[in-house]
Amino acid sequence: MGKLVLILILVFVIAYAVRRALGARSREDDSGSSGQRGGTQPSSPERMLACQHCNAMTPLSAGVVRGGRFYCTQAHAKKAQDV
Ligand SMILES: [Zn+2]
Repeated sequence: MGKLVLILILVFVIAYAVRRALGARSREDDSGSSGQRGGTQPSSPERMLACQHCNAMTPLSAGVVRGGRFYCTQAHAKKAQDV
């Protein structure tokens, strides 16, 4: 009977030690990977396109797309269509 109690205590101690070791390691991984992910995330540069009227390089978000063509301003989009 004494042997069984000794084995149970041994199993409990090993399980506790393993759980503690795994918990500490996973916590370390979480903080390390999340920090790396935030630091290495590249900010994609704005895509530049040439105006079909004046050939000026303009950011995609700042320009106008009309009829499948890109223009630097609404005025140039209108001018190109008028011609
Ligand atoms: Zn233009």
